[in-house]
Amino acid sequence: MILIDGKKVAAELRKELKQEVTELKAKHNKVPGLTVILIGDLTPSQIYVKNKEKSANEVGLKSEVIKYPDSVEEKTVLEKIQDLNNDETVSGILVQLPLPKHIDKQKVIEAIDPSKDVDGFHPMNVGNLSSGYESSIPCTPLGCYLLIKKFEPNLSGKKAVVVGRSNLNGKPMTQLLLKENCTVTITHSKTKDLKAECLEADIIVAAVGIPELVRGDWVKKDAIVIDVGINKTDNGIVGDVHFDEVSKNAKALTPVPGGVGPMTIACLLKNTIDCFKRSQI
Ligand code: NAD
Repeated sequence: MILIDGKKVAAELRKELKQEVTELKAKHNKVPGLTVILIGDLTPSQIYVKNKEKSANEVGLKSEVIKYPDSVEEKTVLEKIQDLNNDETVSGILVQLPLPKHIDKQKVIEAIDPSKDVDGFHPMNVGNLSSGYESSIPCTPLGCYLLIKKFEPNLSGKKAVVVGRSNLNGKPMTQLLLKENCTVTITHSKTKDLKAECLEADIIVAAVGIPELVRGDWVKKDAIVIDVGINKTDNGIVGDVHFDEVSKNAKALTPVPGGVGPMTIACLLKNTIDCFKRSQI
């Protein structure tokens, strides 16, 4: 079994992006800028945002974090997004989720200019991705896609099973695999026989949020298995895939941690740079 080392691939990607930022700076005399809005004091969100800021600085992006207390009014956030939409130094805007209950998530997502939507959640980007047009692609599925492609460049005709149908992970992942000419099955909590579906797959992407759901005898020999899950358990952080069991069958598997996670942040930087490049045309 080959361990797909997301940490290493993400480090390589960041190195390439740093070089690209240097070249863009030389050409345009400015660098791409990423602005993150963080609302409230949820610890995981604070950690994610800190990591995003650190990585953005490392590759040479202009990075800014705007913090609001939990009690901030929706109107204030929407007005700030409008300002950022009009600010030429801002290439990408990300509002860290989840949001406090009194703020309408969809309103916030739709307020972001689609050309600055580095999360790829705006309906315009969702539509463009499903139509096969250029768009921002949600960072985690993009990271999974790059890992799969690194390992297996030609995916045409492969059978892929995506476990989970969230807007964040499962649905965009399906679109990316379809674009590569895979035959894709998307499964979810109402799927009748998940094991039988997974047993058909050359590629499995698990994005569920249930610790070690995908077992060793669900995976056919030579499958590529990508584990998106990050689940806190008494035994530490585990994925949605039973690592020890599946590693005995699969051809290749991502570990948790050190698989998809590092790719997510690297892809956020990539999306910011891509938004900048599109804005310079
Ligand atoms: P979600 O809760 O929005 O969606 C979960 C999906 O799993 C749903 O579509 C649901 O139908 C499906 N599901 C639930 N129970 C199921 C079952 N028994 N069988 C089959 N499908 C089932 O979750 P999400 O936001 O997509 O996140 C999924 C996991 O990925 C979580 O563990 C989350 O922490 C992790 N995550 C990781 C990263 C990363 O960077 N690695 C990023 C985002 C999310």
